[in-house]
Amino acid sequence: SSRLFHPETITIQTPHTTISDHSFSLMAGPCSVESKEHVLKMAAAAKAAGATVLRGGAFKPRTSPYSFQGLGEDGLKFLRAAADQFEMDVVTEIMDEEHLAMIEQYTDIFQIGARNMQNFSLLKAVGKTNKPVMLKRGLSATIDDVLNAAEYIAAGGNHNIILTERGIRTFDNKYTRNTLDVGAVPVLHKLTPYPVIVDPSHAAGHVDFVTPEALAGTAAGADGLIIEIHDDPAHALSDGPQALSPAELKTTFAKAQQIHHLL
Ligand code: PEP
Ligand code: MN
Repeated sequence: SSRLFHPETITIQTPHTTISDHSFSLMAGPCSVESKEHVLKMAAAAKAAGATVLRGGAFKPRTSPYSFQGLGEDGLKFLRAAADQFEMDVVTEIMDEEHLAMIEQYTDIFQIGARNMQNFSLLKAVGKTNKPVMLKRGLSATIDDVLNAAEYIAAGGNHNIILTERGIRTFDNKYTRNTLDVGAVPVLHKLTPYPVIVDPSHAAGHVDFVTPEALAGTAAGADGLIIEIHDDPAHALSDGPQALSPAELKTTFAKAQQIHHLL
């Protein structure tokens, strides 16, 4: 699925969202679906900021097995209901291929998390569906690793792939959680026909750096952003330190749209 064979950029179409070269979209929501009420509140905030895709994890790839693991299918139900109420699409992570049929009922876009970027059986499984797949770059994945991971999905017949730069591990991640590889955005655009979006939340890891990294990724040509938000970050069940407030999301996306229009 290299650019050589697909000169036209692939457009991802979900009910309320177009992700392509000619659009700039926002996916936003909490890191985890925390409750029915909370995800509804976050959906309202995401929608008000201009998001058309609601994010939220119901199956969480936590570093520690003792950290909050997600609400599972109940979380998917709450996420779907919140998205429907605000006429938004859903993106949520699939961690295990045995959940595919179940998650497929609730989501518009499958998220493959960074830790699963080279889970080849999972890639093959989503490659057999025709649902869009948001493939996140692995923590230590090279560009060629990303291309091969995407190829695993495409080889099954599913070319509805969104590549996501979310930061990689480098020699200095003391002040940022990961290092946003802004250069990966134009490189992936050159090498593949897929839309490329940027996740500044997991790259930055700290609320102070999310907006600058969102804007840098936009300037590098990202076709959209995925950003985590929370109304009470100190009590978030996951990734609180990197959550933007609803108000911050709104100003950040407005600035990003201005930058995108200049390109
Ligand atoms: C997430 O989106 O909440 C997440 C766990 O992201 P990543 O796989 O990029 O770490
Ligand atoms: Mn997260």
